[in-house]
This record gives sequence, C-alpha cells and structure tokens, in this order.
Amino acid sequence: MTNRQLFLNHVGQTSEAPLALEIVRAEGCKLFDIDGKEYIDLIGGISVCHVGHRHPAVIAAIKKQLDDYLHIMVYGELVQSPQVQYATLLTQHLPASLNSVFFTASGSEATEGAMKLAKRSQNRTQIISFKNSYHGSTQGALSVMGSEYWQQAFRPLLPDILQMNYNSFEDLDNITERTACVIAETIQAEAGVLVPQKGWLKALRKKCDETGTLLVLDEIQCGFGRNGTLWAFEQFEVVPDILLLGKALGGGMPLGAFVADKKIMDSFTHDPVLGHINTFGGHPVCCAAGMAACKVLLDEKLIETVKEKEELFISLLHHSKIKAVRSRGLMMAVEFEDFEMNKKVIDALLQDSGRLERPDSYVFTDWFLFAANCLRIVPPLTISEEEITEACNKIIEVMDTL
Ligand code: PMP
Repeated sequence: MTNRQLFLNHVGQTSEAPLALEIVRAEGCKLFDIDGKEYIDLIGGISVCHVGHRHPAVIAAIKKQLDDYLHIMVYGELVQSPQVQYATLLTQHLPASLNSVFFTASGSEATEGAMKLAKRSQNRTQIISFKNSYHGSTQGALSVMGSEYWQQAFRPLLPDILQMNYNSFEDLDNITERTACVIAETIQAEAGVLVPQKGWLKALRKKCDETGTLLVLDEIQCGFGRNGTLWAFEQFEVVPDILLLGKALGGGMPLGAFVADKKIMDSFTHDPVLGHINTFGGHPVCCAAGMAACKVLLDEKLIETVKEKEELFISLLHHSKIKAVRSRGLMMAVEFEDFEMNKKVIDALLQDSGRLERPDSYVFTDWFLFAANCLRIVPPLTISEEEITEACNKIIEVMDTL
C-alpha cells in the first residue's frame, strides 16, 4: 500500500476530501513532494515557520539540545536551561508587566491555561470572547470560539461564556465586575484578517481596567513579526494582562505559552497547589528550537522586511475575480466571490496548467475557517521577492484559466 492509502486508512482524518499531498522535504520557503514537484509555501504550517523551513540555526540548536537531554521531568520543578533562557529572552522583548511565561505544548493549551488563570486570579466565572474568533479546538478553547457551526455538535461546553461582536464599541458595555477575562485575537485571523478599528482595543482595555477584568490577547497566529511589529498589540497602544503565544513560538516544534505578570501567574502555586500542570509544555528541544528561531527573527531584522513584502503582494494581486485583499503585514486574505471559486484556485495552484509561463511552479495555500471565500497567505517572513512574484504570477495565471 502507498503511504497515501495508509494515511487515509490509519491517520485520523479531519475532512472527507483531504489534499493528501505527500511532502518529503521542506527547505526555506519551499515544499517538495514525492513526485519531485516543488511548491512555494504560502502558509508555512499556518504561521508557524516564520524563519522558513529548517533554518540552519534552528536545526543546530535542536541538535545541540539532543546531545544534552530530551525529556527529564514534567514542567515546573527542574531548572531547565532552554526554558529559562527562552522565557528570559521573551520577557526582555515584552512590556514589563508580561514577565512570567508558562509554557504549554500547543496554542489551545495556552488558551486553556489562560482561562483558568483568569478565573483563579480574579475569583470570577464569566469569560467573554468574540464572534469569528478562534482560540483552539480543545473543549475550553472551543467554548470561546466564535462560531455556533463548530460548537453545536459538542455542547454542552463551558458555562458562563458570552460572545460579543469584534470591533463593536457598544458591546463593550457587557463587560462587568462579573467578568474574569475578555479574550480576543489582536487581529482576527480565521475571520479572514480582521483588524481592530481605530481606538477599539484601547476602549476594550479601558473597560477591562474599570471592571477589574483581565484582557487576554491571543497572538498565537499573529505574533512574532507577522503583522510588521514583533507583537501585534504594539500597533494599538495596549498591553494585555495575559498574552497567548504558539505556532511560531516553537520555530517549527510544538510549543505554546501564556505570559502574565508574576503576581497573577503565582495564583497557580496555591489553593490549589499545582493549579495548572503539564508533562510536555516547555519541552527542552522545543524551547531550544523556538529560541533559536526567535533570535534569527531579531538578528536578521526580518520584521523590517514585512511591510515591503506585503506591498509587493498587494501590487501583484490584481484580477477581476479578486474582490479584495485584506492584510496586516504578511497575514493576508485574498477574497473571492465564494468558497467554490477559492477552492478552485487553491486546487489549481497545485496542478499543471498548459498555459502557464512556468508549468513546473506550484503554490501551496489554503482558506480560513470563518472566511471560506478567502485564500490564506501567511508565508515564512523569509520569503524572497522572486518567490512572491512567482507565487502571485501563478495565482493570477490560474485565475485566467478558471
Ligand atoms: N489561537 C489562534 C489565533 C490560532 O490561530 C490557533 C491555531 N490555528 C490556536 C489558537 C490554537 O493553536 P493550536 O492549534 O496549537 O492548539
């Protein structure tokens, strides 16, 4: 049996028609499949591979850590240098109040931990989230997801959750002394790149301050330079009480985190002791990889290249079938009339087309959970001008054939 058949038979599936491309190698901004086809990767593991696939500094850090130790004991008891060093580096690049990092193994678990921390530290039960938000697929994270379509089959979910409209000033009045935390993506990704309107995040911050509510900002998808600043919240002049990180945090290895002030974080140490624990969060190899990737991001000044690359994409993505391009840095949504058109484009980008200038160039991308008519562009920040041009040419060319 081929790997493809084994994949369909023995690996848990998430849709009835998976792409089932068999990738055998990834390097920089390229993926290579079993038939030798080369793809420009416009999604980088969905905002994970911000310094490209297999960056040499990341590989070297992983190898070094492999020679020291892999897993020794659950998170929280032993001093493990990769965790300590990475937490320190992160806090050096965050506002002073975000000085304590709790590592998890995924973004969803960061959401879970943050929700528990807010309930415990504020001694309140209500959590508020937003329509079209995505914070993960575990039951707590699913409870704050902003979509009845994805929630309904799994009810009952967590009680005392309220959903508000993102970008609505009026809805902020729902935040009261009962609210433990409000959780929001700084820029809503799965909604198809929805940016907060002027002053809205500030108003949200103010309302949280007035009611003693913690503000949790989810930068799992939009953090680490994706939007043109290291953290997206910098662009809106707010500082969250808890910051959620994941995806790029691990530099290609599984890692999540929630970051808060030590005074808040310490509520997990008592009543009950071990208020939040996990076995693999902050795995030494993942922390070593993540720290190496973060240093590449900073040392190679990749964030400074984001705006120019965004503008290049925008200048090339003109076609009568494109309704709009929404973007903030290298997080972009190319909007089509409907999902059918989007899916046709996504599929055609993986296929040969006789009319193409370069028939051997392929592009890998996908769509957004809550904006199925939008094509996703969240490439490694290392993507070159040539790769952007080639990918956009291919997108425009395939649209001509549809
Ligand atoms: N929050 C956001 C904004 C995300 O984009 C994601 C992942 N798509 C998550 C949380 C969940 O992260 P994970 O898949 O690592 O659990």
